[in-house]
Amino acid sequence: MSKTNTSAAPGVPNRPTPSFGNPDLPPEGRLNTAGNPESLRSDGPRNQFIDSQFPSQLDPPATDISTQPFFWSSFNISPKRIQNGGWARELTSEDFTISEEIAGVNMHLAPGGIRELHWHQTAEWAVMTRGKCRITTIDALGRPSVDDVEEGDLWYFPAGLPHSLQGLGPTGAEFVLAFDSGKQSESNTLLLTDWLAHTPPDVLAKNFGVPQETFRNIPLNNLWIFQGTLPGSLAADQAAAGVQPHTEPVIFRLSRSKPVKENSGGRIQIADSTNFTISKTIASALVTIEPGGMRELHWHPNADEWQYYLRGQARMTVFNTGPKATTNDFRAGDVGVVRKSLGHYVENTGTDVLQFLELFRADRYEEVSLAEWFGHLPPELLMQHLNLTREDVEKLPKGRRGIVPV
Ligand code: MN
Ligand code: MN
Repeated sequence: MSKTNTSAAPGVPNRPTPSFGNPDLPPEGRLNTAGNPESLRSDGPRNQFIDSQFPSQLDPPATDISTQPFFWSSFNISPKRIQNGGWARELTSEDFTISEEIAGVNMHLAPGGIRELHWHQTAEWAVMTRGKCRITTIDALGRPSVDDVEEGDLWYFPAGLPHSLQGLGPTGAEFVLAFDSGKQSESNTLLLTDWLAHTPPDVLAKNFGVPQETFRNIPLNNLWIFQGTLPGSLAADQAAAGVQPHTEPVIFRLSRSKPVKENSGGRIQIADSTNFTISKTIASALVTIEPGGMRELHWHPNADEWQYYLRGQARMTVFNTGPKATTNDFRAGDVGVVRKSLGHYVENTGTDVLQFLELFRADRYEEVSLAEWFGHLPPELLMQHLNLTREDVEKLPKGRRGIVPV
């Protein structure tokens, strides 16, 4: 439904006519520069490597309008802290200001490499992306856990509970941590070595009922990540730690869980407090999208979405009040954030499978699907809003599909 502008002043050319796919006045986008190629000149300083990764930022669709806070970042641009035994890099709200609810850490531990015994004031959720890792923790009821995790598995440590991580053979472990606060940094955790080095020796002796000399060789500086020796069997470590089976496991095999949605376009697997009961502050979805497939238009009413892209390439447009609409491209290792209730889709723009994680600082995964809403409205109401015929409405999908079939 286009409107004709008949009110142009004499001598002033008619403004372009808004139309479907080109809705704005003043118009935005390349297609509104027809006949005036100088509008597109862009020969100032530029990084061609970055340009090539971001076609949508460089040349946004004409439906994009205005600007909104950056919702793209990437572990690929975050400095690594490397020590003997592994490395880590992070994205906190200090650098990525939109990421207020979740901070992310990407870490690698060599075989035998140890992230030292520590704890923090926020909860820690994690997904394994490569290799194998042994994790230990103890809960507030004194129940220990020792588990081995591999690609596609999650762990969750509630706020304040102490833990360790150790890479296993043959190639160690890589994983992404998510803290339930955008301010939490991997560099402001409570470290075992720091505490012991900063406790008077007579207090250590009194506390443990041993001579002060017992602790004479403790590290005076913290270890954070250090190279250790490979542990023995899982069963032996569990027995040594006194592990008993209990009702709230700290790990969840997300990639092996039954999808909640699955069709020719891909699948969605979910872990939240309904099936991963300990994970009370982080809900997550593992989304796998085939080439040509798309995560349907939707939003999340209960929390911001923090995305981590595992493989493939995607574009996403975020719709905000204003109106504002911004399209960004994402690749493996990138992180996106969509504020609570803002509309979005995620399209696989590559020739390979696209896979990413959606995380929410919430106990439950929640979503509103545009198609599901449309399918459950009185048809007349929708027809009047969008100038559709009844036949048009009848052809629309009636329910939530999660991913558009291909
Ligand atoms: Mn931790
Ligand atoms: Mn989403």
